[in-house]
Amino acid sequence: MPDECVFCRIVAGEMPGDIVYQDEGFVAFRDISPQAPVHILVIPKMHIDSSADLTDEQQDLAGRLIIIARNLAEKEGIADRGYRLVINCRSEGGQQVPHLHLHLIGGRKLSGGLG
Ligand code: 5GP
Ligand code: ZN
Repeated sequence: MPDECVFCRIVAGEMPGDIVYQDEGFVAFRDISPQAPVHILVIPKMHIDSSADLTDEQQDLAGRLIIIARNLAEKEGIADRGYRLVINCRSEGGQQVPHLHLHLIGGRKLSGGLG
C-alpha cells in the first residue's frame, strides 16, 4: 500500500472518510467535493492505480464495483430516477487520485456532456 495514497489511508482508518458501505474487499465513502446531492466513491481496498491496471483475473472485482454502486443508488433513493457511474483513468481521463474508484453521481438532472 503506497503510504501517500489518500484512499489507502481512508481504508486504513488513518484519514477520516464519510463511509457509507464497507465489506472485506471494498469501501464506499462520500466525495469530499460533491458534484451532486449524491456523490459516492466506491473503491477496492486493494491498491490498484487505475482501470488500466486491472488484470483479467480482476474481472470479478471490477464487476463488484458496479454492483456495490447499484446497491448504494437504491439505498440513496436515486435508482428510479437514474444516476451516472464514472471511472476516470490516468491523466487524459482526468484521474486525480491514482487509486481505482468508481463515482456514483446523482440526485439531480445531470448534463449530457462527457467532456
Ligand atoms: P478523480 O478525478 O480521480 O476521478 O476523482 C477523485 C475524487 O476524489 C474527486 O472527486 C475528489 O473530490 C475526491 N477526493 C480527493 N481527495 C479526497 C479525500 O481525501 N476524501 C474524499 N472523501 N474524497 C476525496
Ligand atoms: Zn491506494
